[in-house]
Amino acid sequence: MICMRNTEEEFKKKLTPEEYHILRERGTEPGFSGKYTNHKARGVYYCKACGNKLFESDTKFDAKSGWPSFFEVVHNAVELKPDNRFNEERTEVVCAKCGSHLGHLFDDGPEPTGKRYCINSLALDFKEH
Ligand code: FE
Repeated sequence: MICMRNTEEEFKKKLTPEEYHILRERGTEPGFSGKYTNHKARGVYYCKACGNKLFESDTKFDAKSGWPSFFEVVHNAVELKPDNRFNEERTEVVCAKCGSHLGHLFDDGPEPTGKRYCINSLALDFKEH
């Protein structure tokens, strides 16, 4: 089987307009609007666009930021890119498998990593253990 990247048309068909805006146009959902912000169930969070396994629920913490936040990411699941939009120097988090925008990485997270992966709910799909 040949593995191919989804075309933008395929992403458009698969995703809602809101999901497409976050994932493919590097959007950000309004704070405290996402369904996973205060979600505490045990399980795994996947990329909404391609199903790549991204975060385990036991690395989720309450950052009180309005977005789902994690202190660790599944090994090799994401790539980091400099994002200098809006006169800010931030680090963008993208899915390593499909290149979709997920959120941003900050260095003010809790132990043991000190990292805060600040992720849009609309970029995630959750499955319970
Ligand atoms: Fe993906």
